[in-house]
Amino acid sequence: MNLIYLDHCSTTPIDPSVLDAMLPFMRESYGNPGTPHPSIGGVVQQAVRNAREAVSNLINCRSNELIWTSGATESNNLAILGLAENAPLEKRHIVTQVSEHSAVLEPCRYLETKGWQVSYLPVDQFGLIDVHQLEDALMDSTSLVSIMWGNNEIGTIQPIEAIAKICVERGIVFHCDATQAVGKVRVDLESVPISILSFSAHKLYGPKGVGALFIRDLNKQKLIAPRQFGGGQEKLLRAGTLNVPCVVGMGAACSLALNNYRRWSEDIAKLRDHFETILFERLTHISLNGQPTNRLPHISNIAFHGADNEGLLTMLPQLVASTGSACHVADFTPSHVLASLEKVPDISECSLRFGFGKGNTEQEIFIAADEISKAVSRYRAG
Ligand code: PMP
Repeated sequence: MNLIYLDHCSTTPIDPSVLDAMLPFMRESYGNPGTPHPSIGGVVQQAVRNAREAVSNLINCRSNELIWTSGATESNNLAILGLAENAPLEKRHIVTQVSEHSAVLEPCRYLETKGWQVSYLPVDQFGLIDVHQLEDALMDSTSLVSIMWGNNEIGTIQPIEAIAKICVERGIVFHCDATQAVGKVRVDLESVPISILSFSAHKLYGPKGVGALFIRDLNKQKLIAPRQFGGGQEKLLRAGTLNVPCVVGMGAACSLALNNYRRWSEDIAKLRDHFETILFERLTHISLNGQPTNRLPHISNIAFHGADNEGLLTMLPQLVASTGSACHVADFTPSHVLASLEKVPDISECSLRFGFGKGNTEQEIFIAADEISKAVSRYRAG
């Protein structure tokens, strides 16, 4: 069976050129960057420097403002818990929003158990926060605002520039989880004054298990404290021997994205639009979840009213899509993102998320939309 992979928001296949860049660092260049010998440590130090440069070019920051992590989950945890560790007692308030990824929500919930106050902003029917509500939620005790760039289930893009501006005016640290946005839309940290930004390689055709955390002016100010101690790597913020092959892979993936993301995103958005057009032409009682225009190019989340999403997926074994976020270990609780849209009737059990990528073809999109339409009709016919 030829699978049609429409789950690129969960992860992307590694690009062959990225894998080629990584392999020498698993074979001959196996050194630890901490080893002083030039042919062992020196070679890998240079490769890690190049990778840092490549990642910084993609998001337009300085390479000395980046530290490597094991992925966006760790980046988010380090950002939030690391900031909390540094915050004075009278500054223990965070503003975030209900449809963040669990790697933001869970550290916030943990901090609540330690006496922090967290405001979870609601979102509207499209998944957007209201900037005025955000302003109203800020207090003298607010030390952090954490709002994602684009949602991983519905693709809605938040008003990041406006939020960043407010945070700068109020002297509040702004952390942004940009895991789904980097390599899909322009993320330019020179023009948007975000303080801390998290992202991951495996959403942009890089390897799993590596990510980065941007921390503005890292050499001048201490926005966060470490959560992991050991050999002092990554400017004392993230101890542990670097996963050099993956770091090199993340660099290669970011270079590839820098040169191609505009074209990829245009093509992917066309595929997504074509897919949605077919479904909306063929089926009644379906609706789009999320913001229809200001959204990430690669995500389409659709409610098939009167059908059951798990049931539909079992009827479509050749299709790889998902009922929510793949980031939870086999739990079948309904999506908190869809629940946050407060739709009536409830959409969380009839919705499917499709994530498109640069490897998808027109033909695949046509077959997928055709099969889904037939499955929904069959399901509804009982
Ligand atoms: N944040 C967002 C918005 C995501 O989509 C994901 C991955 N689904 C993560 C964080 C976690 O990333 P990682 O898998 O690299 O830990």
